[in-house]
Amino acid sequence: MAGVDASARRRAEYSTDASLYRVAPELVAFPRDADEVVAVVETCLGLGVPLTARGAGTSIAGNAVGTGVVMDLARHLGRVRSLDPEAATARVEPGVVLDDLQAAARPHGLRFGPDPSTHSRCTLGGMIGNNACGSRALAYGRTADNVLELDVVAGTGQRLVARPGAVGEVPGLDAVVRAALGPIRTQFGRFGRQGSGYSLEHLLPERGGDLAQALAGSEGTLAVVLGATLRLVKAPAATVLVVLGYPDMAAAADAAGAVLPHHPVALEGIDARIIDVVRRRGRAVPDLPKGGGWLLVELPGATPAEAEAAAVRLTAAAGPDALAARVLHDPSQAAAVWRIREDGAGFGGRSPAGAPAWAGWEDAAVPPERLGAYLRDFEALLADHGLGGIPYGHFGDGCLHVRIDFPFDRPGGQAVYRSFVEQAAALVAGHGGSMSGEHGDGRARSELLPLMYSPDAIGAMAAVKAALDPRDLLNPGVLVRPRPFDADLRRTMVRPVTGRLGFRYAEDGGDLTSAVHRCTGIGRCVADNSAAGGVMCPSWLATRDEKDTTRGRSRVLQEAVNGTLVRGLSSPEVRESLDLCLACKGCASDCPTGVDMATYKAEVLHQTYRRRLRPPAHYSLGWVPRWAALAARAPRLANLLLATPVLSQVAKRLAGVDRRRPLPRFAPQTLRTWWRRRPAAGPTRPRVLLWPDTFTDHFSPSAGQAAVQVLEDAGYRVELPDEPLCCALTWISTGQLDTAKRVLRHAVDRLATLVGEGPGSKGGSAEVRGASVLVGLEPSCLAVLRHDAPALLGADDPAAVVVARAARTLAEVLGATPGWAPPDLSGVVAVAQPHCHQHAVLGWEADRDLLARAGAEVTAVGGCCGLAGNFGAERGHYDVSVAVAETALLPAVRAAGPDAVVLADGFSCRTQLDHLAGRRALHLAELLAGGRR
Ligand SMILES: Cc1cc2nc3c(=O)[nH]c(=O)nc-3n(C[C@H](O)[C@H](O)[C@H](O)COP(=O)(O)OP(=O)(O)OC[C@H]3O[C@@H](n4cnc5c(N)ncnc54)[C@H](O)[C@@H]3O)c2cc1C
Ligand code: SF4
Ligand code: SF4
Repeated sequence: MAGVDASARRRAEYSTDASLYRVAPELVAFPRDADEVVAVVETCLGLGVPLTARGAGTSIAGNAVGTGVVMDLARHLGRVRSLDPEAATARVEPGVVLDDLQAAARPHGLRFGPDPSTHSRCTLGGMIGNNACGSRALAYGRTADNVLELDVVAGTGQRLVARPGAVGEVPGLDAVVRAALGPIRTQFGRFGRQGSGYSLEHLLPERGGDLAQALAGSEGTLAVVLGATLRLVKAPAATVLVVLGYPDMAAAADAAGAVLPHHPVALEGIDARIIDVVRRRGRAVPDLPKGGGWLLVELPGATPAEAEAAAVRLTAAAGPDALAARVLHDPSQAAAVWRIREDGAGFGGRSPAGAPAWAGWEDAAVPPERLGAYLRDFEALLADHGLGGIPYGHFGDGCLHVRIDFPFDRPGGQAVYRSFVEQAAALVAGHGGSMSGEHGDGRARSELLPLMYSPDAIGAMAAVKAALDPRDLLNPGVLVRPRPFDADLRRTMVRPVTGRLGFRYAEDGGDLTSAVHRCTGIGRCVADNSAAGGVMCPSWLATRDEKDTTRGRSRVLQEAVNGTLVRGLSSPEVRESLDLCLACKGCASDCPTGVDMATYKAEVLHQTYRRRLRPPAHYSLGWVPRWAALAARAPRLANLLLATPVLSQVAKRLAGVDRRRPLPRFAPQTLRTWWRRRPAAGPTRPRVLLWPDTFTDHFSPSAGQAAVQVLEDAGYRVELPDEPLCCALTWISTGQLDTAKRVLRHAVDRLATLVGEGPGSKGGSAEVRGASVLVGLEPSCLAVLRHDAPALLGADDPAAVVVARAARTLAEVLGATPGWAPPDLSGVVAVAQPHCHQHAVLGWEADRDLLARAGAEVTAVGGCCGLAGNFGAERGHYDVSVAVAETALLPAVRAAGPDAVVLADGFSCRTQLDHLAGRRALHLAELLAGGRR
């Protein structure tokens, strides 16, 4: 029988999808094959328990949540069974992720046509459930148009193959269709993006009674898909992206019709305000033409030259309407624009006024020629309700996406939501449109179907449901006999948590509840983002368990702050949920809504262990700066003692460190001691403050010495503080936030004085972009100064602000030094592991540019090294730490061969590489100073 889990933590993890709704299941089932799926269905039928099928759970309308049993089909049913390149078909299990199918089809020049923005994690079963579309459905059709056969089990328990002509195989279904021919012929299938309601037009006799196509879009309310045979399409040999700029989104929508004759593969609209959000998040954005709204037009060609020629024709033709046009010839720039478009729901997660913006009215569609008019009416309706949202969407298909700042946290907010949605639905119906253009109706729209369909049509849908699921057990409350769309709203169940918090949560109004509710469930964390240089979420990549996703953790924390399924932040469920979080901060930059689980984990540990006995690792690894200072008095002796097998094992046991981890060796001489013994450089040179963090000072002074050499060669007078100044990183990551604030306070005050008093602050030549400079070598410590210090001490704390502004990586300082030229590194082949905190907070672009200028051939690895400070050293984390290292870093190092330079600025990354790969990795400073090994 399928694995099942009825724990409160598991129920919390599956209590919502990417929608507004929270519906906790009684139990989650993880079937391993089709027979187990059937067994789950039969058991639910026997017991009369509701059952909701679930793929990746990225549905936005509450389509994938339910009481009773939620059945996760993504966990074990992810195999592409076969692929026939000649026939251009594929047979898949329901849990196959779309990108995996595309990877299997690509070598044959084939692809699956529709591609929702969630392609990196959405499953074929879920796509069939929602009749998913996406940008390229414009050229290749919706999922329904690409489904040939479905192996299903219906809500009656009947197992059958749904295909053209199979209507007669479901008792009573043929009669239902014949009784409703009129309404089906006139009201269903009127235009491409009529996503609301069942697609009954496919059941018509003149259309071949195609039960497979009709089941697409039924949102798991009629049958559960066990396997599917799909049509693949020929992928264009070349594509090019043209961006056309217009004064605003409505003008862009008006212009979409004129672009269609150019036969684009995709024709999307995107608002300039989304790009502003991306820039504010510090992400690089390719140059885009002038405009307040853009059309993104992907044009195909049999050759790159043909695609380019099509682009030239389009830009010439678009002239009169468009303000400006730009062809993105560089595929990496085009990919960057597509990534922004795909993350639109996340970046649109704040309204223009900065309020949280929500799903709920997310994907209405109108016939494409009505889109401009609809958009203007829609903007007016928003204004009437005092609401805001940033639109974007599939303009070539008339489908408009928007997240809206419904005031759920205010009294009467729910009523505003109801009033707006009812009027928006009437507006869409008035434009001949559909409440849903691709996400399905779920709980958000099913109640509104009578505004779009006659009672006869609604009756026909109910009769189809009665034929396939007479007991209403499959995904009840959706499509037929709907729940009110304002029932079960997740956000209205919350209560603020503001008192006695460790961090300030300035961007969330000082409220931890708002912070953990940032997660809207869009599921970027349930995908492998490492190929694109992303980090989030390494623990999921290692375990593939929902528990270890950023999303799963957010859900458990949401339940904990709400005090619902999980009782408080100190509960065992929260502990389990956060246990494998590496605190890598990958989510802080990679999650489009800015979930920062490392911060929440530190907060939870702070709240849980405040004035209580802590786990041993908090005293050992959390207090590393103190132990290192002690060891510095006799480092050789300390190393000797810790290298003794018996003592080492005892020390590890007491310290809560995994016995397989070697203990790091203290440097025989700290960086600061070395520094004190060397002559000072000339006083006339511009000054930089080199900050010896604990790790550089006590464990890697060679990186510091190399940095001194490189900075002096660059013409600087290097200074070091005359006392140890610790950023409190290890106290932060172990949630000892009271101590952390004390330690950090001292360091920040002192560093602020040091960067403030030199010539740099008075306009001297040491200025880099107008501020005095502090160079940090350990990325995680420097990230504390830039990010955590303001978050702990206050974004308005004068010293924290001065230090955060002054803090620079070595590459940033060198890259901005006038006249500095990097050493010649041509011929150097390097694998670089940007530290996760560098990825999340500091950025690695300056390093990339510098290495490119030096002529080195560098492969930057995405993902995390797996050690992540104290995480990988702690008892119980070893296997996951190794598994994380194996996801990207270790394979890349092995593939590069023994002669490649391995570059890693993070002490954790170097330690992990040394231990698991036997490779000594260099800090950038060491490479620039001439080191190669
Ligand atoms: C940021 C974001 C962007 C999106 N962009 C798009 C887009 O561009 N185009 C688009 O069409 N959609 C989009 N979506 C919606 C959603 O991602 C897609 O509909 C996706 O195909 C759902 O796949 P899933 O695996 O997550 O399915 P789930 O959400 O898990 O399930 C979807 C529905 O299918 C049912 N279901 C799942 N598996 C089965 C099965 N085996 N048998 C029967 N029923 C099943 C579920 O009960 C549910 O009703 C987006 C969502 C987000 C969050
Ligand atoms: S954590 Fe971020 S990426 Fe993951 S589901 Fe939540 S919002 Fe999406
Ligand atoms: S901090 Fe890292 S491991 Fe933890 S949830 Fe975020 S991405 Fe995942």
